[in-house]
Amino acid sequence: MKIAVIGGGIVGATTSFYLAQAGDEVTLFDYKIGQATSAAAGIISPWLSQRRNQDWYQLARAGAKFYPALMKDLAVPSESSIYQQVGTILFKNNEKLLNKLYEIALKRREEAPEIGDISILTPTELQAKIPILTPEMNGLFVSGGARVDGRQLINQLVTSFRALGGQYCETQVSDLRPLQSGWLVKANDLTEEYDKVVLGTGAWLPNLIHPLGYNVDVRGQKGQLVEVRIDSDTSNWPVVMPQGESDIIPFSNGQILIGATHENEQFYDLTVDDQVVSDMVNSIKELAPDLIKAEQVEVRVGTRAYTSDFLPFFGEVADLPGLFVASGLGSSGLTTGPVIGHTLASWLHGNETELKASRYSPANYIRKT
Ligand SMILES: Cc1cc2nc3c(=O)[nH]c(=O)nc-3n(C[C@H](O)[C@H](O)[C@H](O)COP(=O)(O)OP(=O)(O)OC[C@H]3O[C@@H](n4cnc5c(N)ncnc54)[C@H](O)[C@@H]3O)c2cc1C
Repeated sequence: MKIAVIGGGIVGATTSFYLAQAGDEVTLFDYKIGQATSAAAGIISPWLSQRRNQDWYQLARAGAKFYPALMKDLAVPSESSIYQQVGTILFKNNEKLLNKLYEIALKRREEAPEIGDISILTPTELQAKIPILTPEMNGLFVSGGARVDGRQLINQLVTSFRALGGQYCETQVSDLRPLQSGWLVKANDLTEEYDKVVLGTGAWLPNLIHPLGYNVDVRGQKGQLVEVRIDSDTSNWPVVMPQGESDIIPFSNGQILIGATHENEQFYDLTVDDQVVSDMVNSIKELAPDLIKAEQVEVRVGTRAYTSDFLPFFGEVADLPGLFVASGLGSSGLTTGPVIGHTLASWLHGNETELKASRYSPANYIRKT
């Protein structure tokens, strides 16, 4: 099959890789601007979320579980810094809530053994894991939690995709039209026909669907995140999720991310807001005072895609055969993106998957105008 994948974030890049692996003739178009995947914090730890929606939880759980298989398919060595299960530490406002979370984790582990070891650690034990932490309370540790470097992962996916014969175009697709059979895609001076099209365009999905006569229930949300560097061996430090918006995500070589903001009113804005960034960093000053003084390397800004009920959707658009979409991945899209991409690639070939199409149908989010 000849397929165009539009959007090269985690969804588009994973879908392209698996389609190319299945022998399809794939072109991946990516505009890159605003991409959430390369701005993301990279926390993969969905099991302790307070969200109650089962469709979301089952998808996020499947997403976290899928990562080791993705690394294997990409032949990423186990010591690579792209993805590491370094564990996650969670804090709550009081011991009672922490104990409740501990009970939830134990219960969820019954069907999700990938959570790994679950324990409540004292401030001294927490400091042994991350020397720069100065916690006053106990924290919950789960060993299966992971962090993923979104930028490196995209690079790896695109490299592997190209090695399989895939074609990569760093350009914006301006128009999409249905044909008698197949689809017409326009980008700059290229106009090409494809059998099928996949839209992994994140928060920008409405731009290509709206001209086809459909409204899309997706809006953009600005997220800012700071990268700092310290002089320590951070490679095995767990991810820290304090109460509040700012998490601490250590990568290797002293690289640490702090973030991220969720700015609904800023929609697609990509400018750095120094005040917002400074407030975000300061919010962790009690827990990690050394990080406030650390050298800031970069501020990343990306746009998350949200639906009005905060659930992602993916699959074939009912009235538009051969057009597959995925969007609305929100703040957990680095967790769910790979399994969504893998699932879409299977559905394009008419194969059944563990995730059921009816649960995540685009029909609820894409409606005729
Ligand atoms: C600051 C921040 C922190 C986050 N932290 C986490 C986290 O810790 N854990 C987690 O699980 N998730 C996290 N997320 C969420 C996650 O990053 C996103 O949900 C996920 O990356 C979305 O992937 P996507 O492929 O759907 O979209 P994107 O990554 O946004 O990719 C869409 C791509 O499509 C391109 N595109 C759009 N229109 C066109 C067009 N017409 N032609 C060509 N290309 C086009 C865009 O330029 C972009 O590159 C975070 C997000 C942000 C912004």
